[in-house]
Amino acid sequence: VSDHDAVVIGAGSAGLTVAVGLAGLGRRVALVESGAVGGDCTNTGCIPSKTLIHLAGRPDPPGDGSSVPHGAAVLAQVRRRRDELARRERVEIPAVEGIELVEGTAVVSGTGPGIVDVTGDDGTIRSIRAPHVVIATGARPRRLPIDGLPDELALTNETVFEQRDLPRHLVVVGGGAVGIELACAVHRLGSRVTVVTRGASILSAQDRTATAVLTAAVRSRGIDVRTGVTPTRFVMHTGALELSDGSAVAGVDRVLVAVGRSPRVEGLGLEGLDVEVTTSGITTDDVGGTGVPGLWAVGDVTAHSQTTHGANAYGRRVVQAIAFPRLPAGRRPVVPTAVFSDPEVASVGLDVAEIERRWPASARRRIEIDLTTVDRAFTDDVTHGVVIVDAERFTGRILRATIVGPHASESIGIVTLAVQRRVSLHRLYRLVHPYPTYASALGKAADEFARQTLPHLPREGAAWCRSRLPVMLRRYR
Ligand SMILES: Cc1cc2nc3c(=O)[nH]c(=O)nc-3n(C[C@H](O)[C@H](O)[C@H](O)COP(=O)(O)OP(=O)(O)OC[C@H]3O[C@@H](n4cnc5c(N)ncnc54)[C@H](O)[C@@H]3O)c2cc1C
Repeated sequence: VSDHDAVVIGAGSAGLTVAVGLAGLGRRVALVESGAVGGDCTNTGCIPSKTLIHLAGRPDPPGDGSSVPHGAAVLAQVRRRRDELARRERVEIPAVEGIELVEGTAVVSGTGPGIVDVTGDDGTIRSIRAPHVVIATGARPRRLPIDGLPDELALTNETVFEQRDLPRHLVVVGGGAVGIELACAVHRLGSRVTVVTRGASILSAQDRTATAVLTAAVRSRGIDVRTGVTPTRFVMHTGALELSDGSAVAGVDRVLVAVGRSPRVEGLGLEGLDVEVTTSGITTDDVGGTGVPGLWAVGDVTAHSQTTHGANAYGRRVVQAIAFPRLPAGRRPVVPTAVFSDPEVASVGLDVAEIERRWPASARRRIEIDLTTVDRAFTDDVTHGVVIVDAERFTGRILRATIVGPHASESIGIVTLAVQRRVSLHRLYRLVHPYPTYASALGKAADEFARQTLPHLPREGAAWCRSRLPVMLRRYR
């Protein structure tokens, strides 16, 4: 048994944040990894997908001067760039003072508190003891077996970047972020693409107006989007993918299954412990505590986050809770979402459902700015885009904002700051944006709110009092 201050299981975005954070504070950390350092983000997620999106959008696609088809050259370039970063991380992480990288599969041991058993490739078992054990084992793609579809034609994010050529006709099953991003990129490279989703729309967790704009944009480019259906059977000799509504998609040569992700909790030895595990992952408090003293969980293995920046934000809270247990944790981080589709979709704030539950319609204002009305969209030939802000009436508190359009993932930073610091639309109204930018649509939204509010302050104030005061009084009673 070797002693450390903490054992971190998993060297993905979450585990790396915690391990590097603790090591930077002088703690000795054993970082256990059963696969590749960098986890999903570096190897099968953010990095290869964003490289693919970038290369697909370049006017001068990479070529090696040979007769390799364009799509195959792009995929090879994606792998090269991904591997370069993976190699760098594999060298840099074990070199961080205080981190010992332990290669093998970890199990939280039943032999005593804070003991983790690591089985190496050669079958040897090493026990590591520490007062803190952090589970950061991530998630894996959810499976959806399709009758008749051979394994080699069924792709996930773990295999799609390993393809040697582009599909002629790709069906993406699943309308979430992973599916839509890859659908847009592969289509841009010249493949035919059909998206099949069980939901009523693609990106169904997003605002309905935003998803309608995105759907119109991708359809206008030639991506076939079919909603409210699931695949039922694949007919190999015709390449027909039959759907639950009786229709079929013809001439399919590969299917990307992107129907969500399952937390990696099995085999971790949690069964005997008082840890709650649901289909969304390990239940934790706001700082990653599982309820078992000294046992923490963070990243995709929890219900709190499904993104690298979320894993980073919550990972920093775990570091603080371990290193400075008496320091107040502060409010939960405001974590924006970003989908790197074409156009991008980004949002921040409360869930649509929570807003509808807590603010009656009479207590809020919805401002929608058609992005094509800003001059930058005119100069750049942008045909689809919208900025939607849901705000509390009278006070202008931003409840949620969604942006569909170029660089939405960057513009959302302004609103994230506003939501986090409670900067109202009244104050955003005074913010000066450079001209011509997409972010100036946020200024237009603030202008519109002011136009609807300032001339009618008594009416707006009375409406706010009627709808919000009872709620606030109830809270303080
Ligand atoms: C295609 C795709 C694109 C994405 N794009 C983005 C994006 O643009 N932006 C963004 O913010 N997020 C993106 N994400 C999500 C992001 O990749 C994940 O949220 C993030 O990687 C989660 O980090 P994690 O550390 O929780 O898990 P992981 O990265 O999965 O890391 C977990 C690690 O734990 C290891 N492990 C598991 N079990 C054990 C064990 N028993 N013992 C030892 N090691 C173990 C695994 O091998 C793995 O390396 C994308 C995801 C996908 C699939």
